[in-house]
Amino acid sequence: MKKIIKNFISEIDKKNSHEPEFMQAVKEIAETVLPYIVSKDIYHGKNILMRMVEPERVLMFRVNWVDDNGEIQVNRGYRVQMNSAIGPYKGGLRFHPTVNLSILKFLALEQVFKNSLTTLPMGAGKGGSDFDPKGKSDGEVMRFCQSFMTELHRYIGPNTDIPAGDIGVGGREIGYMFGQYKKLKKEFTGVLTGKGLSWGGSLIRPEATGYGTVYFAENMLNHVSNTIKGKTVVISGSGNVAQYAAEKCLQLSAKVISMSDSSGTIYDKDGIDSEKLNFIMNLKNLKRGRIHEYVDQYPNSIFFKDKTPWGISCDIALPCATQNELNENDAKILIKNGCICVSEGANMPCEPDAINVFKLNKILYAPGKASNAGGVAVSGLEMAQNSLRYSWSREEVDSKLKEIMKDIHSSCLTHGQEKDYVNYEKGANIAGFIKVADAMLAQGVV
Ligand code: NDP
Repeated sequence: MKKIIKNFISEIDKKNSHEPEFMQAVKEIAETVLPYIVSKDIYHGKNILMRMVEPERVLMFRVNWVDDNGEIQVNRGYRVQMNSAIGPYKGGLRFHPTVNLSILKFLALEQVFKNSLTTLPMGAGKGGSDFDPKGKSDGEVMRFCQSFMTELHRYIGPNTDIPAGDIGVGGREIGYMFGQYKKLKKEFTGVLTGKGLSWGGSLIRPEATGYGTVYFAENMLNHVSNTIKGKTVVISGSGNVAQYAAEKCLQLSAKVISMSDSSGTIYDKDGIDSEKLNFIMNLKNLKRGRIHEYVDQYPNSIFFKDKTPWGISCDIALPCATQNELNENDAKILIKNGCICVSEGANMPCEPDAINVFKLNKILYAPGKASNAGGVAVSGLEMAQNSLRYSWSREEVDSKLKEIMKDIHSSCLTHGQEKDYVNYEKGANIAGFIKVADAMLAQGVV
């Protein structure tokens, strides 16, 4: 089996060796899915995984815009349309200076498995730009979004490809892009998710990824007769996913003691209660400030410049910032300090060696494609409400989200149970693979 995996990876590597994040995602999937394929006659010999890791289409385009000083700026825009076997392409847009094809292909590949796990009819895509909204005025962000959409609108649509937000793309950016799409196409349609409530958005969409990550952690803990109640939690990031993960932890009576951004980590031994979390939400969403400003407001807390939260003693760790933000050493420190559960809110935040440490120590570990699937699941529900021209209540959406996260957890158990340990990574990969593979086989070699 090792040889089959090695040959497969070296074949993919020939074309993609310059894309480290993409290769990392391919390896992680191949190691668990190829043994399953080999054991099943229906999948074996069909080159099915080789087909799945190759995007159906990659679009790359120039985005010109004029800044507040009248200077012309040039950025690069992308959309990776990865797989449409089970539905139209669906996945977020990321605006961050680090965005490149390797990162978007890894995200798009993860999205294939994630969307399949939700059981909703969504294919997978991902896109974005190396544009950095940080430090830009609203006018600059608007002009960039309009220019970006002027090109992207040709390739997307409510039955073709439905983008959403990701790092650097929140309600403001979705609004500007939706406005431009509507103007160009002359139609009001559910082409983006994460829209504002008064113009087609769904209740609970902003909360969904963070809430879902915590629901998944609670499912894992319940499975071993434990609970999140009373646990101490550290969270990386202070953006959309991190904020609502923290909110759900508080609602379930856990104590959140740390959050972060790319400049460092705050530690509040007294706990970040709802008033303090509200301060962080205002700071990040309205003032677009930095996390260290928390310490000026709450002097009992500490700011660790350029540090991640993983050195802080906790029961539960929720990495909710970005890829490869938790390494092997961090994993060892977390375990030494008593951490029993890691639920990924971000995509691929734990490096492969860190995941091995979690598995060797048999702690509860959920890969993002399972634990952060709540966001895209509620995006799927937003699409359904747009089609119905109807809005479900907050309670209805939240209860559907809870149910979906429970079902994803069950799928992981079905395919990931190993004697006395649940390998959630393997369970998520195999469960996600089956639905897409079956659809691809049924649709022929296209
Ligand atoms: P936001 O832009 O709202 O927040 C991102 C947070 O992560 C910020 O606190 C940011 O800090 C921090 N961050 C970003 N890049 C880095 C970096 N290189 N090093 C350290 N910190 C960093 O994004 P989201 O909360 O939407 O997304 C966070 C993660 O969750 C991503 O991995 C995304 O792919 C994933 N995800 C998001 C979903 C969604 O619905 N939004 C759905 C599923 C997954 P700073 O402000 O300093 O940049």
